[in-house]
Amino acid sequence: MEKTLIKPSLKPTILKTETQHTNTETPFYKPIAKEIEVFEQAFTNKIPMLLKGPTGTGKTRFVDFMTHKLNKELITISCHEETSSTDLIGRYIIKGAETVWIDGPLTKAVKEGAVIYLDEIAEARPDVIVAIHSLTDHRKELYIDKLGKTIKAHPDFMLVASFNPGYQKGFKELKPSTRQRFIALAFNYPNEKDEAEILINETQIDASTAKKLVAIANKIRNLTELGLTETVSTRLLVDAAKLIHTGLGKRLAVRVAVVEPLTDDIEITEALSDLCDLMI
Ligand code: ADP
Repeated sequence: MEKTLIKPSLKPTILKTETQHTNTETPFYKPIAKEIEVFEQAFTNKIPMLLKGPTGTGKTRFVDFMTHKLNKELITISCHEETSSTDLIGRYIIKGAETVWIDGPLTKAVKEGAVIYLDEIAEARPDVIVAIHSLTDHRKELYIDKLGKTIKAHPDFMLVASFNPGYQKGFKELKPSTRQRFIALAFNYPNEKDEAEILINETQIDASTAKKLVAIANKIRNLTELGLTETVSTRLLVDAAKLIHTGLGKRLAVRVAVVEPLTDDIEITEALSDLCDLMI
């Protein structure tokens, strides 16, 4: 699938990731509940959506899938602690002897009627939340302070954000007053059958190995006493399945794709590896 990566040329010191797609091939997405219906109705009503759930549970893939399905342009911003409203709204740059204004991705989406996806919105600086306020209520407008201008959102503009709830320490919270500006969909690890189907579709791995990988993931997910910050995501399983499918030994694939990314504790790593060796 064709995707354009727009290099963060406006402010090179900030590692901003912005991706955009127009109408390329629709990615595979396995619906887990009624999320497709919810998104379609949210889009019809242009209600902002918050996708909440741990990393690697299909939030990004879902937005990608839905924007293809609705034939809308998608602009994705991976938020991090340096992401500011200026990054989203735009800035003046010096070009030769002139100063020219460059629209940021949010301004572009608001003007052109694209779907903007603010991935991990809670990581961004607080001024980002302030900047989107007027877009998330009845006003549906964006205030560009540097231009002293307010622009009305295109009727097709939609705001989607993702958020990793702070069940564990280390994750930032989102204020209730911000959360209430969105409708929210919870994402979690799929059931065993669905997750195996995802692995097979994503990697063409055989059904029996897919089933074993899912069993390993569920076993580790239930070991809450290990106190892992994050547990095995579908993404890690997809990586393991890819490695196995292209020929890496199963035990090694599980170790590098599932166990090692979870923890640096040597004892836990060894215990999990032993467990996985028995199950794969
Ligand atoms: P998140 O945005 O929640 O961190 P992603 O959307 O990037 O997670 O999902 C990680 C990977 O897991 C995807 O690239 C895809 O391979 C797989 N995946 C997870 N859930 C699904 C799903 N429901 N349908 C298809 N693929 C999925």
